[in-house]
Amino acid sequence: MKKIVLLILASIFAFAYKIDAYKWQKGDRFYLFLQQNSLPISIYYNLPNEIKRKVRNIQPGSTIFLLKDNNKIKQALFPIDANNQLQIIKKDNKYTTRIVPIFYDVKQKEAKITIDNFLSYDIYKATHLRSLAAKISDIFGDKINFRTLPKGSTLSVLYQTKSRYGKVKDVKVLFASFEIKGKVYNAFLNPYDGRYYDENGRSLKGMFLAAPLRYRKISSYFGRRFHPILHKWRMHDGIDYVNRVGTPIHSVADGIVIYKGWLGGYGKTIKIRHKNGYITLYGHLRSWPRRIYVGKRVRQGDVIGYLGNTGLSTGPHLHFGVMRYGRWINPLKIKRSAKTKLYGRAKKRFLAYIQKFIKENNIALK
Ligand SMILES: [Zn+2]
Repeated sequence: MKKIVLLILASIFAFAYKIDAYKWQKGDRFYLFLQQNSLPISIYYNLPNEIKRKVRNIQPGSTIFLLKDNNKIKQALFPIDANNQLQIIKKDNKYTTRIVPIFYDVKQKEAKITIDNFLSYDIYKATHLRSLAAKISDIFGDKINFRTLPKGSTLSVLYQTKSRYGKVKDVKVLFASFEIKGKVYNAFLNPYDGRYYDENGRSLKGMFLAAPLRYRKISSYFGRRFHPILHKWRMHDGIDYVNRVGTPIHSVADGIVIYKGWLGGYGKTIKIRHKNGYITLYGHLRSWPRRIYVGKRVRQGDVIGYLGNTGLSTGPHLHFGVMRYGRWINPLKIKRSAKTKLYGRAKKRFLAYIQKFIKENNIALK
């Protein structure tokens, strides 16, 4: 009898409870979302500052789960970063919050791919992962020219997928090896710094990216030019890259943000200090990501702003300047090839890691 009552109760609950999935939109605000769903705004104000910052930056496209009881929210889950979510629970007519981990289904896979057509097509055909090709070309981009990749080149790749509800959320390349006309390029992910190195601990990337953005054209080079707004001969101490407003701008090297703000004719500007006496400047920006501030450490490739048309500018473009020991130099002439290598303890640790990794995964290094 008890069992039956329980069953009936369960079915009533199952009927009354409803789980809604809401897709976070660009422009959605956490505190407005609370208001719209009749949740007290004090939930937001009582969060620790660090979590407040995170809920203000929920990624558009993220899924919010709402457990409703007769259309009243009993529980809500907000993903706040790649690994954690904020849970709001109603208990005794009071709302409490806590941070709970997001669980992923993690799988390690491998693929051997012959490049018969072009890289992204062949990788997609073999793995059905669109992002994998982008990762591979990013890892080897400084070493291999993919536009002239000979047919019959082979790629072996060991990668990890992180899935949630059957959807791949993240792909991580653990090891990749290209064989191109008998020449072999190996790349191991170093778990200690998140970068890729060959089997001898040499980085696959130069200190600088070739350019801080994907651009349509260069509208002005480094050197003297007739200024289009000032109508005077002036030194142009950088490179002007043209593309659409909003194009992401990347830091060309690791460094520390030393300036963020309006800077005369450059308009909205970011300056980053790098090692070996280099400073880079990114001008005429439209905006910056919120996580970029003076003193922030950035890594090569991090998005530090969005292309704009602020300051003395005739159209949307990025002014990119490189300074070395206090003098502007031609960004197109910086030695990108100065490869970074692991030394000392970091190298020892990496070599020990890959030795174990090679053994565990039966990798036959060429
Ligand atoms: Zn310029």
